[in-house]
Amino acid sequence: MIGLISATAAGAVARDRLASAWPSRTRVYEGSVGDAVRHAFSECEQVVCFLATGAVVRLVAPLLRDKHVDPGVVCVDEAGRFAVSLLGGHEGGANALAREVAAVLEAEPVVTTATDAVDVPGLDTLGLPVEGDVAGVTRAVLDGEPVALHAELAYPLPALPGNVAADRAAAHTIRVSDRAVEPADREVVLRPPSLVVGVGASKGAPADEVLGLVRDTLRDAGLSPLSVARLATVDAKAGEPGIVEAAEQLGVPVVTYGAGTLAAVAVPNPSDAPLDAVGTPSVAEAAALVAGGELLVPKRKSVRADGKPAMATCAVVRAASRGRLAVVGLGPGARDLVTPRARDELRAASVLVGLDQYVDQIRDLLRPGTRILESGLGAEEARARTAVAEARKGQAVALIGSGDAGVYAMASPALAEASDDIDVVGVPGVTAALAAAAILGAPLGHDHVSISLSDLHTPWEVIERRVRAAAEADIVVTFYNPRSRGRDWQLPKALGILAEHREPGTPVGVVRNASRVDESSRLTTLGELDPAWVDMMTVVTVGNTATRRIAGRMVTPRGYRWQQPAATAASGSPDTTTGTTRKESS
Ligand code: SAH
Repeated sequence: MIGLISATAAGAVARDRLASAWPSRTRVYEGSVGDAVRHAFSECEQVVCFLATGAVVRLVAPLLRDKHVDPGVVCVDEAGRFAVSLLGGHEGGANALAREVAAVLEAEPVVTTATDAVDVPGLDTLGLPVEGDVAGVTRAVLDGEPVALHAELAYPLPALPGNVAADRAAAHTIRVSDRAVEPADREVVLRPPSLVVGVGASKGAPADEVLGLVRDTLRDAGLSPLSVARLATVDAKAGEPGIVEAAEQLGVPVVTYGAGTLAAVAVPNPSDAPLDAVGTPSVAEAAALVAGGELLVPKRKSVRADGKPAMATCAVVRAASRGRLAVVGLGPGARDLVTPRARDELRAASVLVGLDQYVDQIRDLLRPGTRILESGLGAEEARARTAVAEARKGQAVALIGSGDAGVYAMASPALAEASDDIDVVGVPGVTAALAAAAILGAPLGHDHVSISLSDLHTPWEVIERRVRAAAEADIVVTFYNPRSRGRDWQLPKALGILAEHREPGTPVGVVRNASRVDESSRLTTLGELDPAWVDMMTVVTVGNTATRRIAGRMVTPRGYRWQQPAATAASGSPDTTTGTTRKESS
C-alpha cells in the first residue's frame, strides 16, 4: 500500500489525483502531518509526501531503521513539478515510484542513485555469467543509447529496455554466446547455461584428471566453461569423488541417470567397457544427450602423463533452448511476505502474466521492459494458456498468483496445459491459511485441512462430503472462498456440519485481508460466528475438539500425551483487531 500525505490545499489536490488514479494501491492519511507520516511509515510499503523534502527528512529521520525494511519515500513539491525519490530508491522501490507518480501528475521524476538513473539494473544482475565491458555497456544501456543484441543462441533472457535491440548497428553490443569468444571493445558476452558435459570415470579417477579432460575438451572445441550447466553421468557414479570434485571446481551440479535410461540413448561411440562395468554401452555421450540437444564433441578420453590407461571420458552437448515458466506465489499481500526467490523470478522474467490486481501489487519489482499481460477476474484458463504459449515461444514467463500460486490458483490450469518442451519452476508463497494462522496464534498445531466453499467448479455434494469427513475426523479446517454475495448459505451449512461433532464453544478464527493494510481478525466460537463478518477476502479457521483460546489466541495442542489440554483462559484481550501486523504499538 502507498500512503499519501499532504499539508496544503495544493498538496491535497495533487494527492487526490494520485488517489483516484490508484484507488486500490493508495491510502490517504489525514490529521497532523507528523502523526500521518509516522503511521504511514509503519503501515505502508511506500509513502508519497506532498511536502518539502526538508520537512520530510526531519519527520522520517527518527523513524529510520534500515534500507531493507524502511518504506520507499517520494516527495512531490508544492507546485507539483517534481517527484523526488528521497528514501529507499532500490529496496523501497522509491525510484520506480517517483517515475510512476511523475507520470500520473505530469511531473519530472528526480532520481539520484547511480545505477538506475533510468532504473535499469547492471548487466551483471541478469542472473547469467557475464564477461567484457560490463561498466561501459551498462552505462550505454542506462543512457538510452542504441545497444545491439547479438544472440547466437535462443535463451529466455530477462527483460531488457527498448534501446537494446537485435539486428542493429551500434557502438555497444551485448552478445549471448557459449563460444569461447573474447569480448570485443564495448561488448559484453552473456553466458547462457547451454552446455551439458557428459562424464564417465573409472573407480578412483583423480579429480584433476576429470577436470583437466573437461577443460581441455571445452578449450579445443572453442566453448566457454562459463556456459556449462551441469555434468551428467550414470547413477552408479553419482558419488565418484573425481566427478564430484570436478563439478565443484566448475561450480555446476552433477545429474545422474539410470543405466537403463542411458542404454536407450542412441550414441555414435558405444563400447563394451562401460557395458560390463555399469550396464550401459555409453556413459559420457548418453548422459550428455539424454535430455536432447546437439552433440558438439563426441566421446573423448583423458590422456595420462604416465602413459597408463585413461580413467575419464567426456562428451559435450549443446542443449536445445527451452522457454521457461515460473509459477510464482506472491504471498498474502504484505511486501515483506514476498519471498526473495519470488522477487528473483519476477526479475528474471521478460513476460509477466497475471490478474491485474496482483500485477499492481508487484509492478515496481519488475525490470523495465517487462511485457505485462494482465487480465481481469475469471479469465484463469485464458491466463494459463497465454503463459504457456509465451514460454513455448522461448520467453522467460512469470505467472503470478496471490498466496501460493498452487493453492486454488493458477498452477494447476497452467501445468495441465504445459508440455515437456518448456522448463517449469514453482516458487512457493505464504498461503492465506498460514498468514491467518500466524495472526490467530497457533490454530494449525495439529492435523489440518483447507476446504474451498466455492461451488462454482465443484458440486456442493463433493464439498459437503469433505466437510463431513473433516468433521468426523476432528481435523482443524480452514475455509477458503467462504462467502460471497451470491454464495451465502454454504458457510452456515458447513459450520453446521462441524457443529455436529464439535462443541459450540470451539474456537473459530476469522481473518480478513491478512497482511494487507486493512487487515482485521476476530476470534469467536462455532456457536457465535456471524456469517456477516465473512466475505471473499476472508478465511475462516475452525479448531478441533482440543483447540483452546489462551490469552486471546487460538491454540491447537500438538496432542502429545504429556501435554495436558489447556484450560480456556479468560483474558482481557480483544475479540477483534484491526490494522496491519506492522502497526506501531501505540
Ligand atoms: N492462492 C491463494 C488462494 C486463492 S482462493 C492463497 O494461496 O492464499 C481465494 C481465497 O483465498 C479468498 O476467497 C480468501 O478466502 C483467501 N485469501 C486469499 N488471500 C487472503 C488474505 N490475504 N486474507 C484472507 N484470506 C485470503
